Amino acid sequence: MTTSESIITVNGLPVRIVRKRIKNIHLAVYPPNGSVRVSVPEFIDDEAVRLAVVSKFDWIERQIKSFEDQPRQSVCEFVSGESHYYLGCKYLLDVVYTSKHPFIEIRGRKTLALNINKATSLEGCKELLKEWYRKEMKRILPGVVRKWEVKTGLQVESFGIKRMKTKWGSCNPLHRRIWLNLELIKKPINCLEYVVVHEMVHFLERTHNDNFLFHMNRMMPNWRIFREQLRQFPLAHENWLY
Ligand SMILES: [Zn+2]
Repeated sequence: MTTSESIITVNGLPVRIVRKRIKNIHLAVYPPNGSVRVSVPEFIDDEAVRLAVVSKFDWIERQIKSFEDQPRQSVCEFVSGESHYYLGCKYLLDVVYTSKHPFIEIRGRKTLALNINKATSLEGCKELLKEWYRKEMKRILPGVVRKWEVKTGLQVESFGIKRMKTKWGSCNPLHRRIWLNLELIKKPINCLEYVVVHEMVHFLERTHNDNFLFHMNRMMPNWRIFREQLRQFPLAHENWLY
């Protein structure tokens, strides 16, 4: 599907327009900052989009307000009821005091139990959660890489996890090495797989040119959907290179 993007400003609000082969106008406001995006059929011009956005402006403002009222993802106080994400699912934190060594476990389908000591500091909680995410990512990643090695016929010499501020992944095509952003453990597994395949395709093509797209489409026909999922759950930083 061919898509083209442009940005207009409506009442001082930037609105991203994505034109594609669809039948109806589709308006969405995305967290965390309430960015507005309108998907429209290719033949709809900017003025028509502007009118559509204006007619929905009250709703858009309400959406933005609701995001502003939500606690920021970066503000973690590690109190019960706080939301944390794991593999695309939202879990509510349950802080449990233990006299044993602190640990984290998933309880049932919705609870992330943070078992800490009374003396565990905020920094200690942060570290505990980060290490738990890292352990989970280490557990899941080898299977994902192996799966896509088989599917693509490409071989990954080594892979690792990194904390990156502006990228979901990076690679060294020469040494067939890939790095994945630790934040991916919070996203749906499809997103993690998409980034793995993206980096593997760089073994064949360094830039995001037509050849790159050819291989992406061949190896993972639905990659655009997964990229969209990644965009819908942005991190604190938004200048993604994907
Ligand atoms: Zn790339």
